[in-house]
Amino acid sequence: MSAETTDVLVIGSGFGGSIPAYHLAAGGARVTVLERGPRLAAADFAHSMQLGTYNRIVDVIQGDGISVVAGNCVGGGSVVYFAASLRAPTFAFERRGSLGRRIWPAALSRASLDPWYDRAEESLPVARTDWPDVSYAGGVLAAACQRAGHTCNPVPVAVDTTRCTNCNWMLSGCRFDAKRSMLLNYLPGAESHGAVVRPLHEVQSLFPSLQSGYRYAAAYTVLDPSDYTCTEQVGLIHAKVVVLAAGTVGTPVILQRSALPLGGIPSAVGRYFSGNGDRVSVADVDEEKVRSLLGLSRPDGSAYEGLPVGRPITAATYDYLDPKAPEFSRFMLQQIYFPPLTNVLAQTGGTPSWYGIAKRDMRARWRSWLTVLAMTEDDNEGTFGLPPLTGSFTRLAPGLGEGSMRFHPTAATRKAWSASDTALRSIMEKDNLSQVHPWSEDIASTVTAHPIGSARIGDDPATSALTDTHELRGHPGIFVTDGSAVPASLTVNPSLTIAALAERAAPAIVARAVQTGIAVAYGAPPPGR
Ligand SMILES: Cc1cc2nc3c(=O)[nH]c(=O)nc-3n(C[C@H](O)[C@H](O)[C@H](O)COP(=O)(O)OP(=O)(O)OC[C@H]3O[C@@H](n4cnc5c(N)ncnc54)[C@H](O)[C@@H]3O)c2cc1C
Repeated sequence: MSAETTDVLVIGSGFGGSIPAYHLAAGGARVTVLERGPRLAAADFAHSMQLGTYNRIVDVIQGDGISVVAGNCVGGGSVVYFAASLRAPTFAFERRGSLGRRIWPAALSRASLDPWYDRAEESLPVARTDWPDVSYAGGVLAAACQRAGHTCNPVPVAVDTTRCTNCNWMLSGCRFDAKRSMLLNYLPGAESHGAVVRPLHEVQSLFPSLQSGYRYAAAYTVLDPSDYTCTEQVGLIHAKVVVLAAGTVGTPVILQRSALPLGGIPSAVGRYFSGNGDRVSVADVDEEKVRSLLGLSRPDGSAYEGLPVGRPITAATYDYLDPKAPEFSRFMLQQIYFPPLTNVLAQTGGTPSWYGIAKRDMRARWRSWLTVLAMTEDDNEGTFGLPPLTGSFTRLAPGLGEGSMRFHPTAATRKAWSASDTALRSIMEKDNLSQVHPWSEDIASTVTAHPIGSARIGDDPATSALTDTHELRGHPGIFVTDGSAVPASLTVNPSLTIAALAERAAPAIVARAVQTGIAVAYGAPPPGR
């Protein structure tokens, strides 16, 4: 039997995988994308929180001190995310953290990344939104900010606002093809140039290839679509160049598992993991005060005027992104929506109090809960323990896993969270407008949908697994282009920065591919043009 081969193997098909896959395929390389999750399209996405629907494509991975929410499908997080698309502020690239020295590579700054942000924004594309696009919930946050002496603005989104119905089912995938996920731009672009995308293919490890002309081989398992814990088949594919983009929780685990066969894996793999400083709170709003203090109202009994309706992210205050303020005191406060089930976590104290009558009373208030996400500066204190036997984590049930990540917040991270809590209270509790409850760490630990770090770019080999061109130190031809390469929390949602970094890495990957004898050139226009 002849060995399976490809020029470039891309592992994972989120932002970090789809973007290099497009540039390499469009440039002439043979590209194979192996993706662990299933492939779904608009008609397959369900407006339902029933088991068997969203949990086919979304995983909640519980670690020690942190839980991560992540996409598990072709297109990765771009299919289930809320599409807030923001550039990170200049100061985010100059962060020093507790290391006390520059974290980002010297070659990278906001100014040097701007042309790559431009490309990503054009390709998705990203829409500037205006007040008519802002949901009632975003309006409440904006009005509360204004009353407290702060500004608040609409958030740019990778959504075709002419197609968006404001149904608020973004977590389940967009049935209207309004959300500009990788399924609508880079992935079809790559496929139109011959790239092959294989769903339900989970890569387990990498090792040196013994196949003449090929440098690396990847061992993968083919998963049963109705039970991801069952393997239907195993396989091996040889590649000249590998792009690892299995996400912040997936990539370090594959590298850890490959440490022996590959040899010399940088010690920074699986370290410096960050939840992007995410801190979620719920403001339980007094509807009467919304009317009397903010002058806003909504008709009674209309589900579609509830706070949890409309696009999940519409407005944010940028007032606390002050470049002159000290590190660990800068953050963005953003209106966000999670399903009520998740909002149960807002209960404070160590004992769940949502049983019986307490549960009924709490459900009655859900309609008035305004969820706010603070994206602060954490300290990259997360680490990964030993990898599980297969996969990125131990799958406990559909949509639920146990990971090896640990995140025990340092004093600096706690200081950052406390600063954002204080600011949110000063806005949302002014004149008893609402009562703010940070999600309970006692019950849920820290929860993030924005994991970053864990195999990051940098100049210092001791604290960064990758060079500033995203190549794994000591392993020419292995690149990491997903969220794990982002060196530190950004104070904004990370996807646009991940996309811009992947755009920036593409020419370096092409250059390495040319060196390994692949006939490929860089310079494709934005996908679809
Ligand atoms: C509910 C939710 C809402 C979000 N909202 C926003 C938002 O509004 N704005 C924003 O900027 N960000 C948002 N994010 C975060 C954003 O989706 C991620 O930052 C982004 O998707 C990360 O891109 P990535 O390429 O690093 O990884 P991913 O997009 O997670 O892609 C990794 C892919 O690799 C696959 N994979 C994993 N392991 C393997 C393996 N062993 N073999 C093969 N494939 C594998 C996964 O299935 C996945 O498809 C949100 C995330 C979630 C979950």
